Amino acid sequence: MEKKKTETFWIGCHLSSAKGYLAMGKEGERLGCNVFQFFTRNPRGGSVKPLDLEDVAQYNAFHREKGFGTLLAHAPYTMNPCAAKPELREFARSKMKEDLARLELLEDVMFNFHPGSHVQQGAEAAIPMIADVVNDILSAGGKTPILLETMAGKGSEVGRSFEELRAIIDRVEQKERMGICLDTCHVYDGGYDIIGNLEGVLQEFDDIIGLDRLKAIHLNDSKNPMGSHKDRHEKIGEGALTLAGITAIINHPKLRHLPFYLETPNEAEGYAKEIALLRSLRKDG
Ligand code: FE
Ligand code: FE
Ligand code: ZN
Repeated sequence: MEKKKTETFWIGCHLSSAKGYLAMGKEGERLGCNVFQFFTRNPRGGSVKPLDLEDVAQYNAFHREKGFGTLLAHAPYTMNPCAAKPELREFARSKMKEDLARLELLEDVMFNFHPGSHVQQGAEAAIPMIADVVNDILSAGGKTPILLETMAGKGSEVGRSFEELRAIIDRVEQKERMGICLDTCHVYDGGYDIIGNLEGVLQEFDDIIGLDRLKAIHLNDSKNPMGSHKDRHEKIGEGALTLAGITAIINHPKLRHLPFYLETPNEAEGYAKEIALLRSLRKDG
């Protein structure tokens, strides 16, 4: 009998971009990653180093040689494309434009961001603002896909429900470049029971957004119960999602082809352990 070819398990973690792309690639390889995520700039201050073109070229070669999967570039979470103050929205717009232009030089990357916080304006007012920023940054051209992250619904976060994410995409002109990054801690905290009813949640996602838009998973356990709207990540298997729940997620036929990025509270060696553990829990497809 012919042996079935096993599908690649795309698994990795969040890495510091302080030393550049090639350094991240090598660190990722050391930890057992074949994908990784990084912040496009300082997650709090928003500052960014000048782009080192040689480092980008060296990383692209490394990426091809090692057979790495698609990287995830995360925008700093202080950027708020639906802030009430116009100058804050402009700040988000210009920085995201700049980030996207820089990412164009990487051969295999997606750009992920938090839709934002509506701060008393209501989601109805915020959604067109977010779409406006996305339309503007996409109008510059390029190939990099843009992912909206599912949020926990902490404070006035937009993107807690699949309906809100769908409403943003509906207003984007270049829909073919739009996707979703599902954060397992966030959706669970947001009230979606991916542990007791993964099948039902995926069906709901498919009905509202379409599973073809799902491009990445942030794989995190949660410190809090379902619907808590807290957004506090926990180490794999040590939180409310449980190891059994996470095992079901990484093996699910509708999810297993996606890249999984860990954002668990870990140092490098902790990530290496989690990656090894998850590889041992991955079943042949
Ligand atoms: Fe995030
Ligand atoms: Fe996340
Ligand atoms: Zn989070």
